[in-house]
Formats: sequence, structure tokens, C-alpha cells
Amino acid sequence: MRNRLVLLLFIVISQLAEAQNTSGFSSMEVNHVSAKTPGLFAGRKSIYLNLDSLSRDYAFPLPGGKVISGYGTRGGHSGDDIKTRANDTIRAVCDGVVRMAKLYGAYGNVIVVRHPNGLETVYSHNSRNLIKSGDVVKTGQAIALTGRTGRATTEHIHFETRINGKHFNPGLLFNMQDRTLQKGFLKCTQTASGIVVKPLNSKEVPTKVKPLNLSLYKLTPILKPVWDDV
Ligand SMILES: [Zn+2]
Repeated sequence: MRNRLVLLLFIVISQLAEAQNTSGFSSMEVNHVSAKTPGLFAGRKSIYLNLDSLSRDYAFPLPGGKVISGYGTRGGHSGDDIKTRANDTIRAVCDGVVRMAKLYGAYGNVIVVRHPNGLETVYSHNSRNLIKSGDVVKTGQAIALTGRTGRATTEHIHFETRINGKHFNPGLLFNMQDRTLQKGFLKCTQTASGIVVKPLNSKEVPTKVKPLNLSLYKLTPILKPVWDDV
């Protein structure tokens, strides 16, 4: 009987929490770094992100920052660790909607931004998050301050890039040495075990594919991206 009461209470509380989530995201999307983007692949095997469409409107997540630990190191590091100093300003890499902003285990204070082209960027170990789930953010907007919350030995940002919940090398998005955006396209292919992201130049993109530009669907809310026909 007592267990049933506890269960009932748990259900009521979780439904209340759900009702208060006005961002339109599911509770999975609001509470977990790795969450699928509804409708992103829409039955397709691959999608193409047009980096050139962002070339005039992007920001490096931590201006002036240096990579102190790269993607794939230390037995499968899921992002790049970038460092400047404590409480430095972390910036949104391009327009998007904040899917998640909370304290989350080893990530500490973490923010996940979903961008209109399906890309998601993750900013973690923050001393403070300056925005909340459901907020619309603009390119370069200050979203957090660098810290060492969660599992971190120094103040830095652990920066991830994700497609449909799966992380890939942020070096495919940014040249980490000169902090500029990479050129061309990223072909993102779903596989049995996850996702493969491959850089392509514009000549390598099949002509019948319309790459995903930021203008393809409206910014608010970015829940179900609307693709042009491919
Ligand atoms: Zn890291």
C-alpha cells in the first residue's frame, strides 16, 4: 500500500513537472544531453549540413580559447576541452533554441542548444548557466560562464557537437587552431551503431540534394525541422 502511494505521488509530481515544461520539448529532451531530434532524418539515410550558409554568422564557443584535450582522446572523449580562464563568457555558436540547461552529473552545469539545421551544441562544466530551456538564443549570445562543475579538474568548457543525440568531432565544425568555421558541407549518415559525419566540398554533394540551410524552417520552436524535398 505504501509503495503504491509512493508510486502515485511520483506519477503526480512527474506530470506536474511535465506540465510546467512550457518549452515544448519532451521530458527526455529537457533532461538528457543525448536525445533524438524528432523528424530530423524523416526516413532518409543521410542529411547534409551547409556550413557555408553559416559563414557570416557564427561564433566560437569560447573566443580566444585553446584546446587542452581533444575529441576522442582519453579513451573516447566526447568533445573538445577549451580553456581560457575562470568565469569567462561562453557564447552560442549560432542561432537556436535552448533544449536543456541544468546540472547533469559529470557534465556539471550544462547547456544544449538545438540549431535550425539539426545540429546541437553542448557547453559544459559552467560555473553559471545564464539561460533556461526554451529560450531562443542568437549567434554569439552570452549563455554561460566557464567553471569546473561536474567532473573537471580546471576551469574550462567541454564543448560537444551532436546530430540526433550522437556526438561527433567538433573539429569538423570548427578549425580548433584558428577558431574559424570549417567550409563546405557535413554529410551525416545514420548507421546501426550511431552516426558518421563526413566533410564534403560543394562539388561532392549530390545535385538532387538540397542542403540544409538555416532559412529552411522557422526558428521558434525548433522541435520538428521541416526539410525541403530531397
Ligand atoms: Zn571534456
